[in-house]
Amino acid sequence: MAVLAFFGLHWYLSLFTQSFFHHRYAAHRQFTMKKGWERVFYVLSFLFQGSSYLSPRAYAVMHRMHHAFADTEKDPHSPQFDANPFSMMWRTRMVYNRIFNKAAQIDPKFVKDVPDWAGFDKFASNNVIRILWIGVYVAVYLLLDAHWWLFPLILIHAVMGPFHGVIINWFAHTIGYINFKMKDTSRNLFPIDLLMWGEGLHNNHHKFSGRANFGVKKFEFDPLYPIIRVLAWAKVVELRKTAE
Ligand SMILES: [Zn+2]
Ligand SMILES: [Zn+2]
Repeated sequence: MAVLAFFGLHWYLSLFTQSFFHHRYAAHRQFTMKKGWERVFYVLSFLFQGSSYLSPRAYAVMHRMHHAFADTEKDPHSPQFDANPFSMMWRTRMVYNRIFNKAAQIDPKFVKDVPDWAGFDKFASNNVIRILWIGVYVAVYLLLDAHWWLFPLILIHAVMGPFHGVIINWFAHTIGYINFKMKDTSRNLFPIDLLMWGEGLHNNHHKFSGRANFGVKKFEFDPLYPIIRVLAWAKVVELRKTAE
């Protein structure tokens, strides 16, 4: 039980930083925050994503390309151009690395206003640090006296961030329902998305990428949106007028 609670905690905290900080803030600028808070969320992303820490800058650039080129040959990840989720994950990793290492020619519009803390990204993305994090996950499992058959879950802990990415980028582009007819294949996985912090309402998000609330219809619920509203009320973030 304790192991599954730890797995759940890692799942939701890691995805929270990816959805809130990398996706809605860094890539889409649905809200702004002061430099100090930005740094706080960098550190939280490192603590919660651990071995699979993603650079907010590289993530944001790649994700903007996904929206601009969705389901075309230039899309960094698309079930239309990848044979299965694993090959898509691999190609995404290659594109991400080229952006991270600044080895790719990037249209300036994809880089505009993205947060950039190069020193921290370099530290958090270091392979020794990533391996130490995996050691932490193994240690937690040993401390919690996990059954041997639960240990394979550590593979998911190790790649938690990209694992969430694949769920959305593959399944929310192949299964689910459509509210808005788009040129791309985006779909909504669940109307009440308690599993993916609202990211599953992906067809809505492709339609209104500047909107902070991914729920559009009355019966849809994006659990991250009330949290953004609370953070806006507490003056941690400032919601853009167009994002409400
Ligand atoms: Zn998409
Ligand atoms: Zn997006």
